Amino acid sequence: MKDKGLLIVLSGPSGVGKGTVRKAIFSEEDTNFEYSISMTTRLPREGEVNGVDYFFKSREEFESLIQQEKLLEYAEYVGNYYGTPVDYVRETLDSGKDVFLEIEVQGAQQVRKKFPDGLFIFLAPPSLSELENRIVTRGTESEDLIRNRMDEARKELEMMNLYDYVVENDKIELAVERIKAIVVAEHCRRERVQGRYIKMLEAGK
Ligand code: 5GP
Repeated sequence: MKDKGLLIVLSGPSGVGKGTVRKAIFSEEDTNFEYSISMTTRLPREGEVNGVDYFFKSREEFESLIQQEKLLEYAEYVGNYYGTPVDYVRETLDSGKDVFLEIEVQGAQQVRKKFPDGLFIFLAPPSLSELENRIVTRGTESEDLIRNRMDEARKELEMMNLYDYVVENDKIELAVERIKAIVVAEHCRRERVQGRYIKMLEAGK
């Protein structure tokens, strides 16, 4: 029997560039995980294609999917619903392929409860480390501005708690490289590998 695939969740604060990093990952030919296309009630933006970027749904359709428990998670974000189709995720994982979700933080929290052994990656804004520099070098910025940034940073640090890895989005190519390296490492984790050898030994006696 084939091993199940890995559920990879990329999340992080809004505006951090999750979508851009995800698109960069899937534009590379050697990416061998499957992107789970989300459902949303927001209108398509120019150039977006139904079934490629999202499955675009009406509010009624979306609410009926919630009722039928067809969503692994969902959240309301800036007045629109976003959610992950559960059947696609389960079927793809069962076929042994890795599934990649790019979702906002409330959704990631729900997924963590249902898939505690998923791989949760937090995409962090470079502003966190910039902030560190500014504080160390005491730049020319006003106290208020620094305080606002500190509050934001505090919130972001709190959000990080749920995740296994933190990737700073300083440069898209670097963030992509780090995410791919994390996935490779995760597949080599002892807890994930050992069961296969145990089964092999049992079969061979
Ligand atoms: P946008 O409207 O810019 O495409 O996406 C807005 C936000 O929704 C982004 O933070 C994106 O990561 C998030 N998002 C996209 N799909 C899903 C999903 O299926 N579930 C959740 N919870 N968030 C999603």
